[in-house]
Amino acid sequence: MKERILIIEDNRALSKILTKKMEKNLDFEIIQAFSYDEAEEIINDNDDFFITLCDLNLPDAPDGEIVDFVISKGLPVIVLTGSIDEDLREEMLGKNIVDYVYKGNIEDVNYIFTLIQRLSKNRDIKVLAVDDSLVFRKEIKKLLQSQMFSVLIAAHGEEALNYLENNQDIKLVLTDFNMPVIDGVELTKNIREKHDKDDMPIIGMTGSEDHLVSAKFLKIGANDFINKPFSKEELICRINNTLDAKEHLEMITEIANKDFMTKAYNRRYFFQEMESFYKANSNFAIAMIDIDLFKKINDKYGHDIGDLVIITLSNTLKYHTKGSDLVARFGGEEFCIALRDVDKKQAVGFFAKLRKTICDLSINTINAKIKFSVSIGVAFSGDKKIDELLKEADEALFRAKENGRNRVEIA
Ligand code: GH3
Ligand code: MG
Ligand code: MG
Repeated sequence: MKERILIIEDNRALSKILTKKMEKNLDFEIIQAFSYDEAEEIINDNDDFFITLCDLNLPDAPDGEIVDFVISKGLPVIVLTGSIDEDLREEMLGKNIVDYVYKGNIEDVNYIFTLIQRLSKNRDIKVLAVDDSLVFRKEIKKLLQSQMFSVLIAAHGEEALNYLENNQDIKLVLTDFNMPVIDGVELTKNIREKHDKDDMPIIGMTGSEDHLVSAKFLKIGANDFINKPFSKEELICRINNTLDAKEHLEMITEIANKDFMTKAYNRRYFFQEMESFYKANSNFAIAMIDIDLFKKINDKYGHDIGDLVIITLSNTLKYHTKGSDLVARFGGEEFCIALRDVDKKQAVGFFAKLRKTICDLSINTINAKIKFSVSIGVAFSGDKKIDELLKEADEALFRAKENGRNRVEIA
């Protein structure tokens, strides 16, 4: 079942636009309420909402009363407002809402989608905040939780390092500068010994008057920096920018390393990653795998079904190998697998079984049940370089084809 979003807005035209856009852009079920009473009834009936959008001015609740009600039900609130002055902004942010959005124009409405997508991702992100001030720790925890992050709080640098050691899933660190024993810059330096900027973003914070602190943070490898006291919005924007940059880089890396159609690694990445196989100094095997008489599949069923067969093969190879092994698409219907930490006997057993698994598969399309087979050529590590190994595997594959296909041959 889809997660739900509740829009409480008496302007039916606006509510309709929002609902339509959200249904188009987000994977949520959108529920509409047009008054306080209606919203109350809906929430009392089922309060399972990912987020609520609340208009401050409703016919039966003209002064933002809906915000207090929704918050009292433990639900996150994005405030929709036609105008916001400084007092109203203070009052709303004081209520621990997620954010407020002007509903005046289309750009602001579009901001809601970015915001909801960000919040939805934040749920899977664990943030570590480090500060020696108890008051500040409480404040920042509340702030981060309002953005749906999982939050860990440390009172000093040593505790932070401990947390990092025991929580491999921490994705972002916010750290104060002035702290006893290990200060924020020292902590950043420590973290950078193991994690680079893209791997573990760090945002430095300080209330110090010393203007050099920000440069110290940034030079030692912090991704960003913020002066205390800061507005809730500034910190959230800096966090979002930092996380967006990290996610963009992950996306670009993925595009650079993987084949678009099958999402298997590409040839370039294969050669790069093989270095780690050689460095590990243990036995490994590589195999060239090629679909038998694939041209006939294309001719008989068409190119799209041909693609489907290649994707199915790729998924099968990935499914039957470990995360530490390597599956790469070398060309059209040709793949290469590198198996880590195996002796000759294990490798041969593995590929023999894999050949049979593939041969037993059938792909059910509307019009046909498609079967296919592969030929496999296997080579083993020794003191040979990767190019020689691949040549051996290729020659073994050639023999497998010559000897009737649907076979495994060993170099
Ligand atoms: P063999 O058993 O000797 O390997 O025969 P084969 O027909 O599989 O070998 P061949 O290399 O002659 O043909 C491979 C075909 O794969 C030719 C090419 O048009 C097709 N092909 C290459 N890339 C793709 C792709 O991405 N999608 C589809 N559908 N076909 C592809
Ligand atoms: Mg209104
Ligand atoms: Mg082929």
